[in-house]
Amino acid sequence: MKLYNTLTRKKEEFVPVEEGKVRMYVCGPTVYNYIHIGNARPMIVFDTVRRYFEYKGYDVNYVSNFTDVDDKIIKKANEEGVDASVISERYIVEAKKDMDALNVKEATTHPKATEEIDGMIEMIETLIEKGYAYAKNGTVFYRTRKFEGYGKLSKKNIDDLTAGIRIAVDDEKEDPMDFVLWKPKKEGEPSWSSPWGEGRPGWHIECSVMSKKYLGEEIDIHAGGEDLIFPHHENEIAQSEAANGKPFAKYWLHNGFLNIDNVKMSKSLGNFFTVREISEKYDLQVLRFFMLSAHYRSPLNFSADLMAASKNGLDRILTAVNRLDEMQGQDRPLTDEEKAVLVQVDELVKKFEDSMEDDFNTADAVSAIFELVKLANINVTGESSKELVKTVLATIKKLCDVLGIITEHEEELLDADIEKLIEERHAARKAKNFARADEIRDLLAAQGILLKDTREGVKWSRA
Ligand code: AMP
Ligand code: ZN
Repeated sequence: MKLYNTLTRKKEEFVPVEEGKVRMYVCGPTVYNYIHIGNARPMIVFDTVRRYFEYKGYDVNYVSNFTDVDDKIIKKANEEGVDASVISERYIVEAKKDMDALNVKEATTHPKATEEIDGMIEMIETLIEKGYAYAKNGTVFYRTRKFEGYGKLSKKNIDDLTAGIRIAVDDEKEDPMDFVLWKPKKEGEPSWSSPWGEGRPGWHIECSVMSKKYLGEEIDIHAGGEDLIFPHHENEIAQSEAANGKPFAKYWLHNGFLNIDNVKMSKSLGNFFTVREISEKYDLQVLRFFMLSAHYRSPLNFSADLMAASKNGLDRILTAVNRLDEMQGQDRPLTDEEKAVLVQVDELVKKFEDSMEDDFNTADAVSAIFELVKLANINVTGESSKELVKTVLATIKKLCDVLGIITEHEEELLDADIEKLIEERHAARKAKNFARADEIRDLLAAQGILLKDTREGVKWSRA
């Protein structure tokens, strides 16, 4: 399997640190709002990478964080007059709902920055002991020039970087390239006590610490959007390799931007659609399929036309699956022609796998599925043998599942299940676990179950 490594700017053969295992870390969102569909791109593409490794029999340990302390979260909390944790908890719940709706598998671990402060303090202390960091008036800085490999991921040269920076008079940094590991408390901000006084961590240190804690010092894959290459990932390398004295991640994978009118979609530019907004217009399976229609490293322009084309493509696959699902087939052995069809099926599975093994070329993998659908539409009918019907159907379903495309019909909830969920919602509300209560209400709503609070308790009906 070959993957493109940003560190070497080459496609390389994948050789895991430990045989049969994949340890991967994907930088997750900063939770101060609903996630936008640009944030959804790394979630979808790296979930697909994970699914492919699992399909190949690897045991994947997948870690993706939530950045739940940050200037933007604090700003929003102050605007609403609530604690920062109220904002971050709210949007973590919402982000998880969106990921679920996009059929992004739950990570093995979803750590939150605020729950890992001790580990961050410990790593900062190690960096100070080793001479890679220094404290000044409650701030701790990373001594960037001390780390020899600085710039190896982004291919930037420290001197070129410094040239453009004007040094502020009151700057406490020894060098303009030094970055913050710990910052002192400001009024109205959440803070933790540390050897350098009350304060909070800088952004980069969280990923170095969480990656080490949940995956070990040396990992296989570290991933995120290409905007993270510099400075975030460059700084993570400097922190982790200096603290651990070992190479950090073997392969660095970065997705291209999701654009609108060829400009990066971002919250700060205001040119974004949230996943939630898109879900009102489209089935989110269409969004997932759209994201996979391009190579993950290419820029991708969001447009109604491309979404319509994705919807057509997805419908074509799902229509074929439904037709095969309802087909009985004949109780007889395979004919020679049917055997020949199965040979073609195997060739298309091989084409799918070859595409995925060429740096996860999902665009070509999707076209292998289209070819399979075409083969089925032409060659599989009610007159075909049961074995042919079943094998072709199972193959299409299996390959769709690798891409996270849902082909199974959701089973209707039975009355007993509904009653159970309503009871659980009641208990959750009593325990003031409103997040869970809302989650159950949404889950039922998604199945067309309407709830009505009455004096005799909750009544329900099917829409
Ligand atoms: P953020 O919440 O901005 O830290 O972003 C979370 C993840 O989404 C990171 O991996 C970003 O690189 C990625 N990301 C943000 N905007 C886009 C975009 N327009 N296209 C692709 N990836 C993006
Ligand atoms: Zn990160």
